[in-house]
Amino acid sequence: MKAFAYVTARTPESAVELVADRGRFIAGGIDLLGEMKEHIAEPATLVNVKRLPGIREIAPGDTRWSIGAGVTLTALTEHKELRQVFPALAEAAELVGSPQMRNVATIGGNLAQHSRCWYYRHRDVHCLKKGGKRCFARGGENKFHSLFTKCQCLSPCVSNLAVALTVLDASVVVQRGRKPVTLPLAALYDLALTSARVHNSLKPDDLILRIELPVVAGRRSTYLQLSEKNDFDWALVSCAAAGRIENGLLRDARVALGCIAPVPWQTKEADACLERHPPTDATAAAAAEHLLLDASPLEHNAYKLPIARTLVRRAVARLAET
Ligand SMILES: Cc1cc2nc3c(=O)[nH]c(=O)nc-3n(C[C@H](O)[C@H](O)[C@H](O)COP(=O)(O)OP(=O)(O)OC[C@H]3O[C@@H](n4cnc5c(N)ncnc54)[C@H](O)[C@@H]3O)c2cc1C
Ligand code: SF4
Repeated sequence: MKAFAYVTARTPESAVELVADRGRFIAGGIDLLGEMKEHIAEPATLVNVKRLPGIREIAPGDTRWSIGAGVTLTALTEHKELRQVFPALAEAAELVGSPQMRNVATIGGNLAQHSRCWYYRHRDVHCLKKGGKRCFARGGENKFHSLFTKCQCLSPCVSNLAVALTVLDASVVVQRGRKPVTLPLAALYDLALTSARVHNSLKPDDLILRIELPVVAGRRSTYLQLSEKNDFDWALVSCAAAGRIENGLLRDARVALGCIAPVPWQTKEADACLERHPPTDATAAAAAEHLLLDASPLEHNAYKLPIARTLVRRAVARLAET
């Protein structure tokens, strides 16, 4: 690891200024220190953002909750009221990695975590994401990669929380320069669909301040995933769903899949398939087909298709029973 300066920012404006000169924000350090030890990232300055005012606060509200970017995943899982109002978020957080990791990893760092592609994570492999000329996963080892292969980079978004927050209609407040701007969750990732160089839409000095969640009376939500290991592992595929049940029909229905595309994968057609329909297995299966319509698996990842279909059916079944 190369030598670096370490500073603690006290205001969002100073954090942004401090990071400008080849710096990186650091929260729990789970992802960033891994990148540094592997010589993928060599920042001149680490800007600690865990002491910023309000960054570790969960603020409930009647119409909207606000969750500071520095709130740990353990704090999310242990907040009883949050679990009642946004079960998908608590369930997504408690399935991340291991208890030790969840004690330090933050919601902001989880959303901004970088690619887990094993070619990207290899110091000596210069793929498209690092400015190289080719994607080594396309004809190589692509077991964990995207099912939507029209994008140049096949590395999927693997953040559990991104998938849960997608169906909860969350937005992210980002300090951009001297101003805070609010982005819908989808806008936090959409650049990764068109640019192989990035893993999300954040600029290097964009600082996530907080996540905002609207309160929808009577809304149920859930998060499910399948991994190779029970602990200390990312999902192979994940799924979150949300909606109200009114007169036996789903309303404000949302469903999203994770680990199969560079963004949390959601389509209007799949949501429309659930909307004003009973939460039956047939409805869920139809929504899954809509989500996977344009999927074109690679040599080693077609196994993700039946997992995705099953997770969507189970998630909708859980909305019906909760
Ligand atoms: C073995 C293992 C298993 C894992 N399993 C899972 C899993 O199952 N599901 C899952 O979702 N994740 C998983 N992870 C990833 C882990 O959850 C993330 O690495 C962690 O949440 C990152 O949070 P952090 O606070 O430690 O971020 P850091 O490592 O401090 O930062 C991560 C990135 O975000 C940037 N950043 C941090 N805070 C901000 C901010 N406020 N604004 C803008 N940028 C910011 C940093 O500059 C860095 O680029 C796993 C990781 C490991 C090592
Ligand atoms: S999937 Fe993306 S990160 Fe992985 S080798 Fe291809 S371009 Fe690089």
